Amino acid sequence: MSARQRKILMVNLPFSGHTNPTLELARVLVGLGHQVAYVHAPEWRGKVEQTGAHFIPYDNYPDNLSASRKELRSFSAAYDTVFRVGKDFDCLIYEMLFVSGKALADHLGIPSFRLFSTFALNEQVISDFAQTGGGQLTAFFRYKPLLNFLSRRLQKRFGWYYPDIVNEITRNNPALNFTYTVREFQPYADDFDADKYQFVGPSIGDRGEAVFDFSEMSDPIIYVSLGTLLNTSVNFFKTCIEAFKHQPVSVIMSIGKTIKVEQLGALPDNVFVYPYVPQLEILQKASLFITHGGMNSVNESLYYGCPMLVIPMGNDQPRVAQQVVDLHLGKMVAHKGLTAKQLRDSAYSVLQDVSYQKKLEEFQNLSQSAGGNQAIAQMILKSLDNQPK
Ligand code: UDP
Repeated sequence: MSARQRKILMVNLPFSGHTNPTLELARVLVGLGHQVAYVHAPEWRGKVEQTGAHFIPYDNYPDNLSASRKELRSFSAAYDTVFRVGKDFDCLIYEMLFVSGKALADHLGIPSFRLFSTFALNEQVISDFAQTGGGQLTAFFRYKPLLNFLSRRLQKRFGWYYPDIVNEITRNNPALNFTYTVREFQPYADDFDADKYQFVGPSIGDRGEAVFDFSEMSDPIIYVSLGTLLNTSVNFFKTCIEAFKHQPVSVIMSIGKTIKVEQLGALPDNVFVYPYVPQLEILQKASLFITHGGMNSVNESLYYGCPMLVIPMGNDQPRVAQQVVDLHLGKMVAHKGLTAKQLRDSAYSVLQDVSYQKKLEEFQNLSQSAGGNQAIAQMILKSLDNQPK
């Protein structure tokens, strides 16, 4: 283990799916005795400081911007802040959405390490996202002329090595890249150099959440969540209630913070609704996870061996869902036109089919032995020890 105390800089953009798994890495590095500073949007101060890392808020990020302008501004605000403070650190750890991470670290003369909260990206994976991700952010990759025009401006602004974003992501990459899944779940895994791309499984850790009360529930438990972002379909949650009311199952629904429980009408005795739940604890008891196919959720489900019915909403989720189907870890149904009967039949067909168990056990073992954030920390520290002076 590295004997030297390191000064490590982390940076991220204000999207929970991209940030959540990395917080545990900050906690692990702090726990190993290193100094960690994390550049992030002001709203993330509390969560970052809970890890023991020093919080550095973005420069030039006015509070009065609208939510969408803040999202846009975050890319340059994060860049400018790291540009200002970065040279005092031993390395930069960034999540892949902060595309400029490698170019910026090179400019500062410090090594960089990249984290993927979605699949590791090459041209094929990006193209799959573009084709399947619907009207969400990934649609951007379908419009080549627009992409090229914007990329040239971004290259100038952020000092990218390549004049287009796909090459900057796929070719200007650090010597070590870490993905929060197992290699066996990664599409086109053989195309990713084994020395450069490490697959460590999901980010599992103590999230400091209250213990969940299961006392009014009985097995089998079906857990339903659409994650934290594309989770605003009231109709979807109403369809779930209709599908499972008075059925011999208990349903835990995490509906997010936008929809209010009153919007869902009367709740039957076997359906339990919350804005947010301790998902890791629930997955250990659930017999089925009805999920939107968020990369974190799906990998957490694999970690606990819970079969899935995936209902993708957009972005990388349809591609993640396809992997679940192709690897026989669960089923997928389309969100559009979904009826209560179709949802119930699909859910029961996964619940009652023992053939999923064998594959799930395999992926549970792989996920639990993949090393997680502990493995990332050790590899980063070792790499820093081996850097030329
Ligand atoms: N999550 C949770 N409780 C909830 C809903 C979500 O703990 O009630 C966590 C979940 O464990 C996962 C993350 O939020 O780590 C959701 O990430 P994912 O990539 O699945 O979806 P996103 O929110 O980015 O769409």
